Amino acid sequence: MREEDREALRAQNELDAKTLKLTEFISANDLASLMDVNVNEVIKVCLGMGMFVSINQRLDAEAITVIADEFGFDVEFLSAEEEEIDVDAGDSEEDLKPRAPIVTIMGHVDHGKTSLLDYIRNANVAKGEAGGITQHIGAYEVKTKNGAPITFLDTPGHEAFTAMRARGAKVTDIAIIVVAADDSVMPQTKEAINHAQAAGVPIIIALNKIDKPAANPEKIREELSQINILVEEWGGKYQSQEVSAKSGLGIEELLEKVLLEAELLELKANPDRGAIGTVIEASLDKGRGYVTTVLVQTGTLQVGDVVLAGPHYGRVKAMTDHRMKKMKSAGPATPVQVLGLTGAPQAGDRIQVMETEREARELATQRLQLAREQSIRTKKHITLDEIGRRLAIGSFKELNILVKGDVDGSVEALSDSLLKLSTPEVKVNILSKGVGAISESDVLLASASDAIIIGFQVRPSQSARKLAEQEQIDVRLYSIIYNAINEVKDAMEGMLAPTVQEVVVANAEVRMVFNITKVGTIAGCMMTEGTLTRKTKVRVVRDGIVQYTGDIQDLKRFKDDVSEVRQGYECGISIKGFNDLQEGDNIEGFEEKEIKRTL
Ligand code: GDP
Repeated sequence: MREEDREALRAQNELDAKTLKLTEFISANDLASLMDVNVNEVIKVCLGMGMFVSINQRLDAEAITVIADEFGFDVEFLSAEEEEIDVDAGDSEEDLKPRAPIVTIMGHVDHGKTSLLDYIRNANVAKGEAGGITQHIGAYEVKTKNGAPITFLDTPGHEAFTAMRARGAKVTDIAIIVVAADDSVMPQTKEAINHAQAAGVPIIIALNKIDKPAANPEKIREELSQINILVEEWGGKYQSQEVSAKSGLGIEELLEKVLLEAELLELKANPDRGAIGTVIEASLDKGRGYVTTVLVQTGTLQVGDVVLAGPHYGRVKAMTDHRMKKMKSAGPATPVQVLGLTGAPQAGDRIQVMETEREARELATQRLQLAREQSIRTKKHITLDEIGRRLAIGSFKELNILVKGDVDGSVEALSDSLLKLSTPEVKVNILSKGVGAISESDVLLASASDAIIIGFQVRPSQSARKLAEQEQIDVRLYSIIYNAINEVKDAMEGMLAPTVQEVVVANAEVRMVFNITKVGTIAGCMMTEGTLTRKTKVRVVRDGIVQYTGDIQDLKRFKDDVSEVRQGYECGISIKGFNDLQEGDNIEGFEEKEIKRTL
């Protein structure tokens, strides 16, 4: 911390002698100086509480609160982050004009998302535009028969939808969930519905491929009812429409239903102000420089405006729509391609008009620095250990959890018990619960909703594990419901005690199975990870679900009994009391280790 900054904070603090106002991650030294004590005192106090800190160590909010308390101070954390811009702030009711709804199409692969988007784009072309070459720019506006505009995000699939939401952008007003009427409600259908519901976005069901002889929309309606999506025909609240993306049957009606839903939402924005929007996609074009597709959300974007988008800025040189038609201005809910930015912002970044280029440049630089610092110092997502820290800052109100388990009964039991942990201060939300291995989509949903994932007797898939690491999602695996509940409870009370955690130390793949009379099943395995010893406890995992937990009976290399087998070697394994080993199973060796809480 610079001396001037320290001075400023000190001056501020003098106003209220017993309350320290500070930012998180100040060093032990700075904290000592704010409290006007010697840093050695601080270190001594920390030692007394079992924390080892050095002079320049940066402290998290939880530690700062505890230390300050020892010296008789309260703390108030100043936020380093900029204020979230409220898109409608400052607009009075008269300023607001109706705007077009923004729609995303989601659903299972091959159920017809792309076909539906294509049909809508090509059929709803305004007069005089027909024949124009359409460009993929990530979003486009169509006009229905009676002239009402609808904006479609041309990023089918819920990954794009969720990736945007993970960056804090709420763009979509309405989600169309496509289900092929000749197929069934599939896993990705359910996921898409989960994602839309988690985002609080109304859903319209499109029953596609109705032209096919095998189409059976009634069966789909029934399947939907089983996951609590009751369509209107079944007395529920969800609009649905039978369509064919091939012949165009029912699509006009589908668009009417979108407009009906939009009417209920009373979507409005103020076109007479500096534009604020969201970046849909951006790329570098050889001839044109950085090309950014922007969805204007409020205000009107004009050629010549100075804009700030994420850590980039620039003056709008030119704007075009998805037919490459030049535009001078773009009002609310209009997607446009913008030329003139200094770099490519990320999808989901906020873009806004600034008064001067200088201001835009300064803010862009600040953001770049802040982003760098935060990526070094803070975890982006909630973890059980992180809860204490957030409680200390006072920013923790809700704990979002995804529950995955091996059977329905335990998923329900676990979810119910977790829900009951809600306190007046912290509410527990179960975002989704289901049976099966933890998938990539689960991790994405957790990332978008800042949730933790609790797996009971299940494992993440390889790709889900990687994504969770990358996104820093806390994935906790348990084999005893009681442990799962207790750990969450402790975390919510801000005191995660040292816990006994299971550490996976070895992984073996079952390549072949031999049934030997009187001996039982022996699995011919390849050690793919770590080292397995005869004493290691093991779990049999099949398709991400734990089948059995127990001990090794025999561990062999060729005919010999051995005490351990290392990675890269073949071996024979049999398991005490379990004879159902199958080819393709994973045998996971684990140890129980006591994990101390670290600062
Ligand atoms: P997506 O993966 O959800 O984007 O699905 P696509 O739009 O790529 O469609 C998958 C396949 O279904 C393609 O071969 C389409 O031609 C076909 N298809 C899509 N909609 C219809 C439809 O309404 N009727 C028929 N008969 N085929 C369709």
